[in-house]
Amino acid sequence: PQSSVDVRLDDGFARALPELAVPWSAARPEHPTLLALNAPLAVELGLDPGELRSESGIRFLLGNELAAGSRPVAQAYAGHQFGGLSPRLGDGRALLLGEIVDPAGRVRDLHLKGSGRTPFARADGFAAVGPMLREYAVGEAMHALGIPTTRALAVIGTGRRVPRDGELLPGAVLVRVAASHLRIGSFQYAAIRGDIGLLRRLTEFAIRRHYPRLLGSGTPALDLLRAVIAAQAELVASWMLVGFVHGVMNTDNATISGETIDYGPCAFLDAYDPAAVFSSIDHGGRYAYGGQPGVMLWNLTRFAEALLPLIDAERHGGSDTAPTAAREIDPAAIRLAEEALAEFAPAYQRAWTSGMRAKLGLADGDADDARVADLSAGLLQDLRDHAVDYTLAFRDLARLAHEESPGEEGSRLPEPDRLGPWFAAWTALRPDGDAMDSVNPLRIPRNGVIDDALEAASAGDLAPFASLLEAVAHPFEAGVDTDPELARFARPADPGRGRYVTYCG
Ligand code: AMP
Ligand code: MG
Ligand code: MG
Repeated sequence: PQSSVDVRLDDGFARALPELAVPWSAARPEHPTLLALNAPLAVELGLDPGELRSESGIRFLLGNELAAGSRPVAQAYAGHQFGGLSPRLGDGRALLLGEIVDPAGRVRDLHLKGSGRTPFARADGFAAVGPMLREYAVGEAMHALGIPTTRALAVIGTGRRVPRDGELLPGAVLVRVAASHLRIGSFQYAAIRGDIGLLRRLTEFAIRRHYPRLLGSGTPALDLLRAVIAAQAELVASWMLVGFVHGVMNTDNATISGETIDYGPCAFLDAYDPAAVFSSIDHGGRYAYGGQPGVMLWNLTRFAEALLPLIDAERHGGSDTAPTAAREIDPAAIRLAEEALAEFAPAYQRAWTSGMRAKLGLADGDADDARVADLSAGLLQDLRDHAVDYTLAFRDLARLAHEESPGEEGSRLPEPDRLGPWFAAWTALRPDGDAMDSVNPLRIPRNGVIDDALEAASAGDLAPFASLLEAVAHPFEAGVDTDPELARFARPADPGRGRYVTYCG
């Protein structure tokens, strides 16, 4: 049925890439209830939050009543999961409703998660309230931190019970907004099938959508590879700077847009530890905090491999030649891809160093890259040795830069004279404490505190979740001491607590 919601969606993905789009319908829950609506995001998209809260608005959000132009599809993709290739993954419990053009002219995907089994399903097709609200909160936290991310528009309770680990949990649908859902795994899907025409159309689609400055290039595949390498180098650097552990960096969870996607078993660091792993299923520590840049480069290498037939063809005059995947790739094409991949490490290092310079309250002229690298290495070693909370360490350093007393909470840092020789070197550079407080978050979605909010929400009390959203939407400003609810997000983990474990949901 047609939706009364006043919006037009486009089916550009399904039209351009029909091989990757299986038309499908969302399940229709009997008694849906809107659990959370992202009103600012709705407005940004040109949608009326009041209309979305109505009964017909909720049916629109669930994909039960379709906006003009909407043709929901499950998207096909492949992916390396923990290093092993699955040639056919795809949206098992998700649907693309269509693309929405916001008032600023930006194209965004409107996407559902938990909307029922599709032909790609590997389980019941549903989702539980807790993990969907978790994706909402962590995505909003990342957005407020200035990190590119998909965002939740809404979470709707379905009234269904979904079985998980021997329990029956309340079900939910997440409505997600993304620059697109193109993944490295989308390209792998086309490459594995040897479908060069599809690979070429996918490349064109990705460029048009995300890197329009490359339109008209004679070497679109190589240029797209370079652009994604640059975007992902910056993204992972921003994760590392803020202490974010994605938890499941499979190639199907790595976007072409450079947005963070698929918040499952993710977590923020408590005590600084490069070996930190939170996910219950990451037994080998493949996706540990400190390994993330290397894993992203591994993923990008899989992306380069998928693009190789096109990169090779581009060497012989581009689009008119018709290469086949079976044809041996010329070593010269492999060299081009390797050169592009070699740009990842320096791009990552540049982004990380400039972020760390800011976190340390230094300006460009205060310390060159080598100096910043040296200072941060010393600091991080000390944080690790003393198991100091990564987030709050930088706020405490800012107070030292202000020559302020540590306040009621006390400093989480070891006494300055135990902070190692780097401390004197750092203060000698006259770091700017105010600048530090504007880039170093005070409030992050704290492990454990999130769980309390989600548990309450699953039991029907959404007040703690509202506080969680309020807290993570304002990561930087001080003044939390007055609001005990917000102050919980600015407090380190209880050192007596065991290892925090996250689940895929
Ligand atoms: P993920 O671990 O979330 O990246 O998912 C891996 C694959 O399993 C994807 O193809 C998902 O669509 C599919 N999948 C995950 N959870 C479910 C579910 N509850 N029902 C159906 N398919 C699922
Ligand atoms: Mg995924
Ligand atoms: Mg997932």
